[in-house]
Amino acid sequence: MSVSTSVPAPASVFPLLESRLPSVQKPIQYVGGELNSTVKSWNCAAESEAGGESVRWALMYPDAYEVGLPNQGVQILYEVLNERDWIVAERTYAVWPDMEAVMREHDIPQFTVDSHRPVRAFDVLGLSFSTELGYTNMLNALDLAGIALHAVDRGDDEPIVLAGGHAAFNPEPIADFIDAAVLGDGEEVVLAISEVVREWKAEGRPGGRDELLRRLAVSGGVYVPKFYDVVYTADGTIEAVVPNKPGIPFRVSKHTLMDLDAWPYPRKPLVPLAETVHERFSVEIFRGCTRGCRFCQAGMITRPVRERSIKTIGDMVENGIRKSGFEEVGLLSLSSADHTEIGEVAKGLADRYEGSNVSLSLPSTRVDAFNISLANEFSRNGRRSGLTFAPEGGSERMRKVINKMVTEEDLINTVAAAYSHGWRQVKLYFMVGLPTETDEDVLQVADLAKKVIAKGREVTGHNDIRCTVSIGGFVPKPHTPFQWAAQLDHETTDSRLKKLRDTVREDKRFGRAIGFRYHDGKPGIVEGLLSRGDRRVGRVIEEVWRDGGRFDGWSEHFSYDRWMAATERGLAGTGVDVDWYTVREREYDEVLPWDHLDSGLDKDWMWADWEDALAAAEGADIEVEDCRWTPCYDCGVCPEMGTEIQIGPTGQTLLPLSVV
Ligand code: SF4
Repeated sequence: MSVSTSVPAPASVFPLLESRLPSVQKPIQYVGGELNSTVKSWNCAAESEAGGESVRWALMYPDAYEVGLPNQGVQILYEVLNERDWIVAERTYAVWPDMEAVMREHDIPQFTVDSHRPVRAFDVLGLSFSTELGYTNMLNALDLAGIALHAVDRGDDEPIVLAGGHAAFNPEPIADFIDAAVLGDGEEVVLAISEVVREWKAEGRPGGRDELLRRLAVSGGVYVPKFYDVVYTADGTIEAVVPNKPGIPFRVSKHTLMDLDAWPYPRKPLVPLAETVHERFSVEIFRGCTRGCRFCQAGMITRPVRERSIKTIGDMVENGIRKSGFEEVGLLSLSSADHTEIGEVAKGLADRYEGSNVSLSLPSTRVDAFNISLANEFSRNGRRSGLTFAPEGGSERMRKVINKMVTEEDLINTVAAAYSHGWRQVKLYFMVGLPTETDEDVLQVADLAKKVIAKGREVTGHNDIRCTVSIGGFVPKPHTPFQWAAQLDHETTDSRLKKLRDTVREDKRFGRAIGFRYHDGKPGIVEGLLSRGDRRVGRVIEEVWRDGGRFDGWSEHFSYDRWMAATERGLAGTGVDVDWYTVREREYDEVLPWDHLDSGLDKDWMWADWEDALAAAEGADIEVEDCRWTPCYDCGVCPEMGTEIQIGPTGQTLLPLSVV
């Protein structure tokens, strides 16, 4: 039997907020109303022709507006959901500490920026986690919203708290705080979840939120942590993770969108009101990567490769520019130069927008896929800003260990070609702390940078050549062949970085031409704890938040000491500590906290790949080639997920359009 479909809309908090906005920094970030944003009636379904129950989503990127607004995932889901006349989707972001103080003082709850409705009034609060460092911001938002922090304490009138994004491939550290998690591409699953919520509401909410969660869980595509018990062994490892209710599947699968051309989002890109980290229109030109870099979680969990066709890319660019007015277009993916028709895409777009104010950028470029004519196309309308290449490993030995087969010769030739075509700045990205790494491997970064500068000077005849070396700390991630690896402790990380910096600086011929950017090793340890943690880590996150932890991805807000003090308290009595989660190597038969979450990758294939990495470290010549161009090497994803590689070439070309 259908029940009443219209409910009073919750009051906007804007009247409470408005007079206080002048007292906070960047108040514009809280007001909404961006070009292409959407405000719908709270009872949109009841007002539609079909009638029925409305389903309401608050979507959160758990970071500040300036980082969260450009996030593609949230923008896509916001649009996909709002296109349905029975769904309302609004956005909310983490508020800065000054705004938090105002909200706590005046009892203003966490609100959406679109219509300033309280987040607690929505059916679902969907959070997209690109990184684990957003967890404390989630707790803060829940608390500000007046939503119970722990899922077990939530009543029927509180939203379902749902996590997605790459970090959701191991949501165990936040299992106590979320009701559910989804893995993989969100476009289809958010609609499927909405259908389940709509039906449950239309039936009069039988069985309360437990029944709703059960319905989501039995679908096999939504993970509901409370329906799984974790059993630990005496040594602190996991014995098993088992469903505790009939009908709940043992494993939960990721979602894979198989026809990117059928989902050309964003169609109405949001144009921010305040300054944000990216001010451009981005088109994702393909998803997935099968290059097989062993450290790369993004590549592993997004398999297989699925390309957008050149025609759809062209249509999306034209539409996005027209609707947003952005002057820069970014062609996004994990390795954009690998698109089978990237040359035609680049040329077609460069021809089309020649003479206009539209510039093109290719944010991620592999050394071996780069070609200068491509870079020239992309810079036709724009500045020759720096080019970035990511060899990742300083020595050839390390690059074999990580399966990123870039030879020194490749790199130097590529960079030389860039310098001789007018580029003066090149950025090289490396990681420190990779498995089996020694000081010597890291010091080879300095040699490489010097050779790059020397070659640049040689081919250009100029001395004003610059190379910036940027170094990040390696953090082993779930669902990768390095998921068993020991993370390097932060003291050794820092000492290697110092030795490298000293080596770069002591050579006066190159010191000034080489820029050196790095972070200390401590934040990586916290990221490592959260990445490979289990449910026991939840107490640590809560301790940190209670102690004032917010915005842990921001160096000015991050406190290592706060995290370490919280691990002492939060892990007390468990028999495990932060080192156990981070610098400990795992054995083959250890049950990993995320083993019941299915990314499609076969665990035995990953283990064999891990062993190959260790063999490569000892000199074995083992390379895993890209399955786009060589036979399938059975990583498991395609048969497990019922997917296949989708690549061109399509043979299409981009028709010139008259540019307005
Ligand atoms: S199953 Fe085979 S074709 Fe599919 S991603 Fe893995 S290696 Fe590539």
